[in-house]
Amino acid sequence: MKPPPRKIVHVDMDAFYASVEQRDRPELRGKPVIVGGQPDSRGVVCTASYEARQFGVRSAMPTAQAYRLCPHGVFLRPDFPRYKEASRTIQAIFREVTELVEPLSLDEAYLDVSQNHLDEPSATRVAAHLRARIREQTALTASAGVAPNKFLAKVASDLDKPDGLTVIPPERVPELLAGLPVRKLPGIGRVGAERCARHGIERVADFLRHDLEQLVRWFGSSGPRYLELARGVDERPVRPGRERKSVSIEDTFAEDVVARAEAAAILDTLAERLAERLRLAEARGRTVVLKVKYADFQQVTRSRTLSAPTRAHTTLSETALALLDQTEVGGRPVRLLGIGVSNLDEPSASASAQLVLFDPDPP
Ligand SMILES: [Mg+2]
Repeated sequence: MKPPPRKIVHVDMDAFYASVEQRDRPELRGKPVIVGGQPDSRGVVCTASYEARQFGVRSAMPTAQAYRLCPHGVFLRPDFPRYKEASRTIQAIFREVTELVEPLSLDEAYLDVSQNHLDEPSATRVAAHLRARIREQTALTASAGVAPNKFLAKVASDLDKPDGLTVIPPERVPELLAGLPVRKLPGIGRVGAERCARHGIERVADFLRHDLEQLVRWFGSSGPRYLELARGVDERPVRPGRERKSVSIEDTFAEDVVARAEAAAILDTLAERLAERLRLAEARGRTVVLKVKYADFQQVTRSRTLSAPTRAHTTLSETALALLDQTEVGGRPVRLLGIGVSNLDEPSASASAQLVLFDPDPP
């Protein structure tokens, strides 16, 4: 017998940092507020208020560019203690409803409300309840998406921002995915989207025009996953209190690294140091993570989960090099490189490592 469909809610606060600022400083309401680095620095935008977005300002954009688009904007440095306080309140509201909460950041979480403390069978009403409680307790607005899995719930929460609630019923899934840019798929960033575009895949539904073999040729082990997502299937469970234990090592350079060969050599040295660190800790890791911070401070990570835990220098180095191909290193100056492993298999954690080996959640 097939299990009943899950009820997943994705809650995402609207322009969170900027909204906290506008809430606490009424003189900023209705104004374009840009939280992040100062315009004369190399920083990037963390959050732009909806007023600032009308000028084309977006998060992760260099602040200098935001300044050109919106010179009359109010540029603020982030005040994390205040954002964290609001975040704690929001997380507590989530846990009134279910323990199955997976936070993604200070202002975003997945909730599995298939069973919930409200004994409310309608996930839509649970989401409405959450939004009302958040507004009441924090004077901030949240958007929510309701769907049978995490991928679709996150797509849904984005459809009617700000202050929206979107439900994706099964019959709407094909139509919705047809028009969705591939960028919206979990695991596909800008580079991934460019790679898809080279094969004529711009929209999620474009994956459906190819068979699995072809997709594997183009995208390796990600091929089957993309095809599943394009069909609206996503079995990843909501994972509360996800373990984030990892060992990593990184280097910031005095001068930006431009050449890919130089980056590769640095990574090999980092892999060697990481291997030594793991050996001393008697630990092995199954997921290799590459971290790249570009000269403009934009940071990306790429990861790959191996079939077995490792601490071998060569494996770490080769995996990191393969991941390097999924970044813009070589085409864009880099100020920091890092390599790490997670999904640790340590002497003290062998029981949990066993569970990790059969973890159905793809990286
Ligand atoms: Mg948000």
